[in-house]
Amino acid sequence: MPTKIVEGKAVKDVKQLYEMADAHCHLDAIKDQSLIQDAIAHGIMTMVSNGVSFPTNKRTLEISDGKHIFPALGMDPQNAVQTPDDDLDSEIENNIKLIRDNRSRVVSIGEIGLDYLHAKDFNLVAKQRTVFERFIDLATELKLPVSVHSRDSLDDVMETLKAKDAQKVHLHFFEGNVQQAKEAERLGYMISIPPITSSKRSRIMKEVSIDNLMVESDSPAVGPTPKSVELSVHMIAEAKMISVERAAEVLTMNTKRFFKINVRKPQSGAGIGFIRT
Ligand SMILES: [Zn+2]
Repeated sequence: MPTKIVEGKAVKDVKQLYEMADAHCHLDAIKDQSLIQDAIAHGIMTMVSNGVSFPTNKRTLEISDGKHIFPALGMDPQNAVQTPDDDLDSEIENNIKLIRDNRSRVVSIGEIGLDYLHAKDFNLVAKQRTVFERFIDLATELKLPVSVHSRDSLDDVMETLKAKDAQKVHLHFFEGNVQQAKEAERLGYMISIPPITSSKRSRIMKEVSIDNLMVESDSPAVGPTPKSVELSVHMIAEAKMISVERAAEVLTMNTKRFFKINVRKPQSGAGIGFIRT
């Protein structure tokens, strides 16, 4: 579906949309790839697509165009748990080699983290920690940010990141309370907001500076496509009592700055013209 983008002009019959960025999604898992084109046509001009394992990292590289889709590569805690003990080292090394070989394209190390819902015994926690720490070290060495998952594990995740002195941290699908969010903010971490409303999340959006916020779809697992970030943008605009256009502008800038993505120059004014054909 051809989509023509007209920059900086008001064109009759063009629906004015605002530019948005999806800080965390899994585009390799979206079966109908036309949904991605549809998201771009809807203004989601930047998407950070995360791999979680060797095959998904490879696929993420294949679909990343460096224009709208940017790869984050890593090994997530579920993959750490599922990898047989004897294969763990080689799995780690294969992924690290893939990342090194594609260093110039990769914008973040992720998805990595700890997930205690999927680690019921000491051995499984230890495997997750081994993988998490190796990839934090890799990010430090390659001067890349980390895109971090936590589930029932946020205190340990933050302790590990602090102990490792990780410098650029993105806590995706933030699960914490206000106190933890404030600590993340103090450390200069970025928090991304998924398209799901909750009273806990609204408090966090109010308390944390917008400079430390990004939006994510976590699609297709949470939102069906990257378009779902629009709801998160609306949620943040409401919490901050600013216009949706302004929220979209700041959140997009935050995301591009954090991942060092420079797709094109910022537009004058918030709106961008799109023609749908
Ligand atoms: Zn994810």
